[in-house]
Amino acid sequence: MNSVHDFDIKFIKGIGPAKAKLLQEELGIKSLSDLVHHFPSHYVDRSAVYAIRNFCDEMPYVQVRGRFVSFTIQGEGAKRRLTGLFTDGTATMEVVWFNRIKALQEAYHTNTEYLLFGKPKEFNGRWSMTHPEVDLPNSATAAQGLRGVYPLTEKLRNRGITSRSLFQWISSALSLVKHFDETLPAEIVQARHLPDADTALRNIHNPANNEVLNAARFRLKFEELFYLQLNIRRYALKRSAAVQGRLFSRIGLFFNNFYSQCLPFALTGAQKRVLKEIRADVGSGRQMNRLVQGDVGSGKTIVALMAMLMALDNGTQACLMAPTEILATQHYESLRELAAKVGVNIRLLTGSTKAKEREEIDRMLLDGSLHILVGTHAVIEDRVQFRDLGLAVIDEQHRFGVVQRARLWGKNKIAPHILVMTATPIPRTLAMTVYGDLDVSVIDELPPGRKPITTLLRYDDQRMQVYRSIGRQLAMGRQVYIVYPLIKENEKLDLKCLEEGYELIRETFPSYRTAYVHGQMKPKEKDYQMKLFAENTAQILVATTVIEVGVNVPNASVMLIENAERFGLSQLHQLRGRVGRGAEQSFCILMSKRKIGRDTRKRLELMTQTSDGFLIAEADLKTRGPGDLEGTMQSGMPMELHIANLATDGQVVQMARDSVDALLDADPSLSAPGHQMLLPELSRLFARSTDMSRIS
Ligand code: ADP
Ligand code: MG
Repeated sequence: MNSVHDFDIKFIKGIGPAKAKLLQEELGIKSLSDLVHHFPSHYVDRSAVYAIRNFCDEMPYVQVRGRFVSFTIQGEGAKRRLTGLFTDGTATMEVVWFNRIKALQEAYHTNTEYLLFGKPKEFNGRWSMTHPEVDLPNSATAAQGLRGVYPLTEKLRNRGITSRSLFQWISSALSLVKHFDETLPAEIVQARHLPDADTALRNIHNPANNEVLNAARFRLKFEELFYLQLNIRRYALKRSAAVQGRLFSRIGLFFNNFYSQCLPFALTGAQKRVLKEIRADVGSGRQMNRLVQGDVGSGKTIVALMAMLMALDNGTQACLMAPTEILATQHYESLRELAAKVGVNIRLLTGSTKAKEREEIDRMLLDGSLHILVGTHAVIEDRVQFRDLGLAVIDEQHRFGVVQRARLWGKNKIAPHILVMTATPIPRTLAMTVYGDLDVSVIDELPPGRKPITTLLRYDDQRMQVYRSIGRQLAMGRQVYIVYPLIKENEKLDLKCLEEGYELIRETFPSYRTAYVHGQMKPKEKDYQMKLFAENTAQILVATTVIEVGVNVPNASVMLIENAERFGLSQLHQLRGRVGRGAEQSFCILMSKRKIGRDTRKRLELMTQTSDGFLIAEADLKTRGPGDLEGTMQSGMPMELHIANLATDGQVVQMARDSVDALLDADPSLSAPGHQMLLPELSRLFARSTDMSRIS
């Protein structure tokens, strides 16, 4: 037969052209290989039979044995359904089908014993199962032992395709292939004690016991993560070989004068350590590509400035990009103030910079008299030309897309060093994957003297109490943020919430001025409103998450977050970081509906218990998955993972990374004997992904 990658699934027994098309549309399964790489999401023990009387909340898929008492057809049109009353002698439950009603009514009978396999749900005090698998006991299809449950889509289910259909098709596919080729080098298979590819693929679908299943799952996860890491690390290698790095050989007057005369405080240990790492990078002769993670308030700005001073000391220029105009302006102002005494010429470039000033900036950039350019996306426009850009700093990286970062690359004959700063802590193993080609530094220490922020969870019916405590803070001269969610799917409704909230706040606190910002405002108006708050002309700021990133108002002591249950934890953490910047005790109040799920309540409670951004990011990753973590969305995963889970398989990520590093050390071109499968597999897996070598 031709390769498993070219074998069209429509030729597999039971599939055919129509179902093949459906499988491709719904699950992206085209080839035999795709099909056998559609893995069960979990397994159930088909030797166990449960009693309906013992059903409980949050039960997985279970098997019950019993008889149908009756069948009835209810509802009209799309709501039409077939309901069977089913008893196993301990209790009864309803079994519901929404389609193929006629066929099923003819197929199933009362007073015949069946094995049902499905997920129990409780509805109005009664148990039910929707679209269970139905088998006659002892029939050939009634499974024994461990049985995989395959992920399906709603549409597939509606077309009558079940987990069992997939199991049968996959079994046919497996029987068509004599032996699946090994995809990993033998020395790695041996060293990691992995089952071979063929064994693993067969055991994952049809495990004889837990032991072989676990070995198969481990092997397949490892393989997936191995290729992911191999792809990333190879690009990093290629890049460092191809890109000429700029050598910053000296520390000069800019840095030294700043360090000895202008440093407004003693650096924390973590800041010093990260500066050393940066110094080593820029002094290595290779291009720096470093990500600095540091919680909100950990003092990333000063680190960025000192790195930029290193660039100036070596006769080059530096730029700092921020995602919004407000942030860029704040950075500009604080950097200018810090660097004023050492004679750094620093300017701001945003979308609203006047034409005349732009011309001046353009001119100074070209003749080299402008040392540091701070700005928004405007900085990466083609017309902005530096005489010699040595270092580009990107703040709050997650707002910059991959493509935008790549554009920075083209700014110079010699690629500038790249320093990316983010306040979104990303667990190490995720960073290793998403930013696998960046070196990661962590500022894991806050400057001394910070008072921890008190975080409280409050419910809508406690609103008046909450407003009274806000009133007390205002009376003490403090300022207050009130944040509403603005989630794209329903912008209109969200905006209405925000407007009503704004009116309510103005009525509740008539003697204070309330400013108001949201994402749809014109930048001018937004800036005006933000300025009212920053200058304490307004004491309350009602806003959407536009304020999330970086705004600095030390006098603000309360952050009230409405509908906190709708935010991700990392986002709540970012918002919370807006307060606690002054000397006063600060508060973060999470407002939520009282009726929320157990998991949501747990997540919100975690926020009240910890201020550790990494812990919070881990929790977010576990409950929401990596796709939801801000920062990973735009970076984008270069390949879809079928079985590995970046949230829970951190150890496997590390092992895969270690194996990849050892492999690339020994055989950087992947051409040694026994490695001939690696390059074709890489190009097959990553044929459609972004060229990572162009990404900072
Ligand atoms: P972020 O990491 O969130 O960008 P910033 O760089 O804005 O944090 O720093 C937050 C605040 O902490 C600033 O007011 C800054 O001046 C101050 N800061 C930074 N480093 C130190 C330090 N080592 N000691 C005391 N204060 C510091
Ligand atoms: Mg910052």
